[in-house]
Amino acid sequence: MSDTIPYLREAYIAQLAVRRASLLTSKISEEHLQKGISKEDKSPVTIGDFGAQAIVINSILKNFPNDEVVGEEDSTLIKEKGIKDAIFQHIKAIQSKDQPFTEQLGHLTDGDEVCDIIDRGNSKGGRSGRIWALDPIDGTKGFLRGDQYAVCLALIVDGEVKVGVVGCPNLPHDLAKTSGPRGGLFTAVKGQGSYFQDLHKDVIYPFTKGERLSVKNEFDVSQARVVEGVEKGHSAHGLQGLIKQKLGIVQPSVNLDSQVKYCAVSKGDAEIYLRLPRVVDYQEKIWDHAAGYLLVNESGGKVSDMYGNDLDFGYGRTLNSQGVIAATSTTHAKIIKVIKSIVGENGEKLEEFCKK
Ligand code: AMP
Ligand code: MG
Repeated sequence: MSDTIPYLREAYIAQLAVRRASLLTSKISEEHLQKGISKEDKSPVTIGDFGAQAIVINSILKNFPNDEVVGEEDSTLIKEKGIKDAIFQHIKAIQSKDQPFTEQLGHLTDGDEVCDIIDRGNSKGGRSGRIWALDPIDGTKGFLRGDQYAVCLALIVDGEVKVGVVGCPNLPHDLAKTSGPRGGLFTAVKGQGSYFQDLHKDVIYPFTKGERLSVKNEFDVSQARVVEGVEKGHSAHGLQGLIKQKLGIVQPSVNLDSQVKYCAVSKGDAEIYLRLPRVVDYQEKIWDHAAGYLLVNESGGKVSDMYGNDLDFGYGRTLNSQGVIAATSTTHAKIIKVIKSIVGENGEKLEEFCKK
């Protein structure tokens, strides 16, 4: 039966790679937090970002050597700072811990190879061929605080997102029970649904045997649970507040870094994710949205730009649109209507709410 599931191998390799990269980021985060958080010290995020990008791209290209990757990082900073060997030592430790999967994922052998493989994330993106979009640590600010962050990977084929995998090392299994177990691995394949499994357990194969996710469409919009970013510079919290007010939403939002916001909506732990532009001409990056977009869509929800148009993942390394709204499908239409009533049909008044 599993032979008939499209993109089954891609999903499995993506899950194993994201899980291996999450092991690396979790270990680096633990060491960093034990030492005590210093706001100035960005080295854990630097090492974690580069190490995770190297692990994921190496795994993808070992299995699909002709594919391209749009990765957030390149090796310029590694070379400037002379940290290739330090990064490799972290990768080496994780490779030995994750040894059972070496045959599937391969392994990196030195710091020079780490730099070369990181630079394979240089695809321009576009409308044709198989292109992976990777954010090795989405939500770097959350990562540094010991809060939410995610390792995000998606496969885009001819401009359409086909596979999305998100590893969330710190996400509570139930967002309402923050003292409960944490760590989720979310997987979606176009037309096959979205699924959850514990990040700390062996990857479930085929992914369709995991916990199937779906959004709840029948509820009063005033009762909706809303997720928004933490960083005030990444979305327009003032405008978002106005939208919530017009929708009659009573509960305070939950603020989370990274694509875990999409995960929360896809899992039914929230009904709305608002991301209105703080900078009027900011171009959202495809690696910040591709995997989460598919997760919510495959859970029966809807994702669009702030005017209700579908997101275009074939444009290049960025989207060519403004804002992102992810929500249960019935709520989604109401939100778009409210947004247009505030900023105008085509955003004529948007600048009033943005930084120039
Ligand atoms: P979040 O955790 O939701 O705040 O999103 C994190 C992502 O926001 C990062 O990966 C950045 O790529 C992205 N980002 C950086 N600057 C901006 C901006 N001005 N507007 C929107 N997103 C941004
Ligand atoms: Mg990001």
